[in-house]
Amino acid sequence: MPATTPPPDTLPPYGGLMAQTAVSPAPTSEKNASGTCGSRNPSPAIIDTLARPLHDLRISVTDRCNFRCPYCMPKTVFGRDYPFLARTELLSFEEIERVASAAVACGVRKLRITGGEPLLRKHLPRLIERLARLPVELTLTTNGVLLARNAQDLRNAGLNRVTVSLDALDDAIFRRMNDADARVTEVLAGIDAAAAAGLSPVKINCVAQRGVNDGEILPLAEHFRGTGHILRFIEYMDVGSSNGWRMDEVVTARDILERIGARHPLEAIEAAYPGEVAERWRYRDGSGEIGVIASVTQAFCRDCTRLRLSTDGTLYTCLFSSHGKDIRGLLRGGASDDELRSAIGAQWSARSDRYSELRQSGQPVIRKIEMSYIGG
Ligand code: SAM
Ligand code: SF4
Ligand code: SF4
Repeated sequence: MPATTPPPDTLPPYGGLMAQTAVSPAPTSEKNASGTCGSRNPSPAIIDTLARPLHDLRISVTDRCNFRCPYCMPKTVFGRDYPFLARTELLSFEEIERVASAAVACGVRKLRITGGEPLLRKHLPRLIERLARLPVELTLTTNGVLLARNAQDLRNAGLNRVTVSLDALDDAIFRRMNDADARVTEVLAGIDAAAAAGLSPVKINCVAQRGVNDGEILPLAEHFRGTGHILRFIEYMDVGSSNGWRMDEVVTARDILERIGARHPLEAIEAAYPGEVAERWRYRDGSGEIGVIASVTQAFCRDCTRLRLSTDGTLYTCLFSSHGKDIRGLLRGGASDDELRSAIGAQWSARSDRYSELRQSGQPVIRKIEMSYIGG
């Protein structure tokens, strides 16, 4: 894999004032270095070997998807014969709730439901209802095609916010990006329904890929300016082993900010909390906020507070992990809540992952888990 050139520490101005992104105090003021999770909910966050607190849990509820985005689930790999997980292999809602509850006792304050496409999971609002009882912020990431018909039920069940992925406004380019004949209007209807249901501010994720949808960066920015929705651009990442990633296809966060800032001057704003993946910018004319997630060119591993639960119940401490902890085996083997908490606490306290930093320094990597399975 080609090495990347580490960028300078500071960013240039984008058509306007430059400011360094400042970081607010940690969301979890208490930290727990004992390696043992509390029994109360919530408890102080457990920390890993690099002193990073556990704060987020991403839960993949299905490894299936109705899209075949070539950067995530290319048809050549995820075709008709692909061995998706069998129903019995999936964690049940009750099992997911037990893991989430144990994670909250180890410090988790934010849950994100993801996949695959999470809205393909049957009766998802029933899971949301269970998780909404926990003292956490509850969010979901979706490709948006099934959102219009589900937004109100999700909100009623207790979901706080949604992130909708949308890579283009032009239908032909969008179809090339989703490879499933999905139309832009369906996703825009989902975004409108989410906002109307109170799942706001709606965040919109766009993966920018050079030569494919980089011409859509400015149209997307102009479309969502002034709507109250927050558009975020993600650098195309080398997740999994299927997408044939190449560094020269990455549109860097800096490039994206330059393109938008040249037309609509931008200024940096504070991160909401340490570990927030998006670098936040606002239009100087007050017409809203955008974000860039520079996962390739500016690794943010030192602030990474995320744990991931795969569809079949394996816990991973990094998006690029090659192996994880089998929690489903514990759950189905009769483990107590105490044992679940201990397993999560032990795994997080032993954590030393910093894949993106190593990639940036040009170190070789081993096979990685697909994003659709581990949860994006
Ligand atoms: N299917 C849902 C969706 O697309 O929003 C949720 C799962 S998807 C894996 C979560 C996020 O990961 C999406 O915003 C998607 O664009 C992003 N993603 C997938 N593959 C990526 C890659 N190779 N590089 C950067 N982001 C990627
Ligand atoms: Fe499906 Fe989301 Fe992956 Fe696209 S990015 S293939 S919508 S899981
Ligand atoms: Fe976190 Fe791993 Fe991504 Fe680094 S590479 S930010 S440790 S998920």
